[in-house]
Amino acid sequence: DILKIRPFMSDLMAEFEFELLDRHHEFTYRDQMKETPSVRIDGKRVQQAIRNIIGNAVKYGPADLRVDTDLYAEGNFVCLSIRDNGPGIPEEKLPYIFDRFYRIDPERSKDLMSTGLGLAIARELIEAQEGEVVASSPAEGGTCFTIKLPIAGNAVNSDQKTSEPAGAAAGRRDSAV
Ligand code: ATP
Ligand code: MG
Repeated sequence: DILKIRPFMSDLMAEFEFELLDRHHEFTYRDQMKETPSVRIDGKRVQQAIRNIIGNAVKYGPADLRVDTDLYAEGNFVCLSIRDNGPGIPEEKLPYIFDRFYRIDPERSKDLMSTGLGLAIARELIEAQEGEVVASSPAEGGTCFTIKLPIAGNAVNSDQKTSEPAGAAAGRRDSAV
């Protein structure tokens, strides 16, 4: 589906906010977008990927968990960053966390009913839509996941699709339908 990213994401994040506040965690969502681009995504799959990432924050994070999310544009992508104040992931383990069945602490994860599939599935769901998921360990601690979704065409403002420089259309990867 081709969706306007801002209303889609604010509705979705309102659901996660509700769930986290219900568990007495803190949650913020900041929309830093200046435009309202459209993305060609399957909303349910994006929701599931975000659920796997936020689910980990809840599972591995402290009682006073805080999850901060930001939506911003970067080149031809819309990015959603999801940052938690959990135990963090050592830099040398970051390359493996998206592997199937990989768990950093299998003994501990066993108690938590983990299979090690959540992030592998999240990455598959996002890559199937020509997006990307990356993880980083911020200096201030915790873990940060960023989901990048490709902007559909150049439809930055689809209310004004009348005139567009010829060069802009030529450089497009996929043209708007
Ligand atoms: P499943 O999601 O299948 O229930 P899982 O949570 O162990 O199992 P993944 O979601 O793929 O598997 O995560 C892989 C590993 O990465 C986890 O076992 C955990 O060690 C680590 N991890 C993932 N997210 C976080 C996080 N937010 N903070 C700290 N560690 C994390
Ligand atoms: Mg998981």
